Amino acid sequence: MDFDIRVVGGGLAGSEAALSLARLGLSVELWEMRPLHQTDIHETDRFGELVCSNSLGSDALRDARGLLKAELRLLGSAIVGCADASRLPAGKAFAVDKNQFSGLVTQSIQSNPLISVRREEYRRLDSSVPTILATGPLTSPDFLDELRKRLGRENLFFYDAVAPSIWAHSVDRDSSFLSSRGGDAADYLNCPLTREEYYTFVHALQSARRHLPETPHEQKYFEGCLPVEEIARRGDDALRFGPMRPIGLRERPEDCFAVIQLRKENREGTVLGLVGFQTSLAIAEQQRVLGMIPALRNAEFVRYGLIHRNAFLRGPSVLSQDLQLRAFPRIWTAGQLCGVDGYMESTALGLVAALNAAATLRGFPRPVFSVQTMMGLLVDYVTQERADFQPANANYGLLPLEPGPKQKAVDREAFAVAALKHIRHIADEVEAWSTNKTVL
Ligand SMILES: Cc1cc2nc3c(=O)[nH]c(=O)nc-3n(C[C@H](O)[C@H](O)[C@H](O)COP(=O)(O)OP(=O)(O)OC[C@H]3O[C@@H](n4cnc5c(N)ncnc54)[C@H](O)[C@@H]3O)c2cc1C
Repeated sequence: MDFDIRVVGGGLAGSEAALSLARLGLSVELWEMRPLHQTDIHETDRFGELVCSNSLGSDALRDARGLLKAELRLLGSAIVGCADASRLPAGKAFAVDKNQFSGLVTQSIQSNPLISVRREEYRRLDSSVPTILATGPLTSPDFLDELRKRLGRENLFFYDAVAPSIWAHSVDRDSSFLSSRGGDAADYLNCPLTREEYYTFVHALQSARRHLPETPHEQKYFEGCLPVEEIARRGDDALRFGPMRPIGLRERPEDCFAVIQLRKENREGTVLGLVGFQTSLAIAEQQRVLGMIPALRNAEFVRYGLIHRNAFLRGPSVLSQDLQLRAFPRIWTAGQLCGVDGYMESTALGLVAALNAAATLRGFPRPVFSVQTMMGLLVDYVTQERADFQPANANYGLLPLEPGPKQKAVDREAFAVAALKHIRHIADEVEAWSTNKTVL
């Protein structure tokens, strides 16, 4: 073996893991099956491709994802470094130019002398080689079968949906207006609907033809990313209190009853994504139903919304606290495969897996991420037994409940201060042991 560790999957978690391991002096063999085998969603052969939205969530410290980014920055995350370098203005959201971002990640990997890239599909689990599995929500079917065979029925999956993107030039500017819910107004183009237009639109959405997974058992959506037609089925007003809420917009037309927001997906602003508008409608129905929105009546689609398989392991049943597979020591898991959801969450578990693997291979005590940090809360979530396990985003609801009937509201500022202190301590620890190059 002419490398120290293998990483499988060059998405967010795998790229973060490979770059972190290399920074710590370990040599890495990084497997990525694209472009030889594409997933249903990825479009390029790049590392760190963002498969849908270009938003990485909030950057504010009091928000869970903002704190998560701050923790990652302290630990020297390469992925957050590339995101910082490709950031776009987007109000309170941290959005990036997707091409520039994945270009930077790819360049960092390909120019790193400690990382050798192997463009191949990984099909069989080889437990004789220290490995980090980061094959993500779109893990290839063959390897998913292998995981099911090796780990049993704890391997679950559910279905998820993606929002469409359209060409900016095809939006009717006379029927839309610029305004943001905080931040720079120019970052969001809003497509308003009157009361009558809204209900006509919702009724069309409720009865439109959809692409559904084959069995009812598989028609299980992640609550944080529901298709809009699924939200519409929950009540005529559900959308105008959800992704189509018109509140917080300073200069909106008087008869604006609901609104669809469009956000830039590239620096030039030529491509716009429909914010929170993931859909599983058939393609012709997307053209018909979205065309009922006045500003989108001539919309040209860059990419249609779609429904997709979303694979994950039932972490608490199969993982130990350091993200190793209990049945296969020295095989770690990272990213969405272990049961988190989200770009930053996947990145975070890529970094944690890398630190755990590096500590084990070098014989150092592994860093312990306490539940007083956002990274620790995610690790705790995917490794501690719980009744109904579904992939989770970073959020303060992950905090363990205190004893007693009354729960106190979390003091987010105090939590963030303590979390960053704890992470700084881990960063110092890693800095100290990373200078020792012995690999066991
Ligand atoms: C369609 C879709 C839309 C999403 N939208 C968002 C969003 O807008 N915002 C958000 O925060 N999160 C989103 N997510 C959630 C998710 O956290 C991201 O998908 C994130 O990219 C997951 O990171 P990852 O590294 O775990 O997996 P990925 O980034 O998917 O990386 C996994 C990599 O492994 C490779 N691979 C798979 N199988 C094999 C194999 N057998 N051998 C070799 N290579 C393999 C794949 O080609 C891929 O490059 C979305 C997920 C999906 C599926």
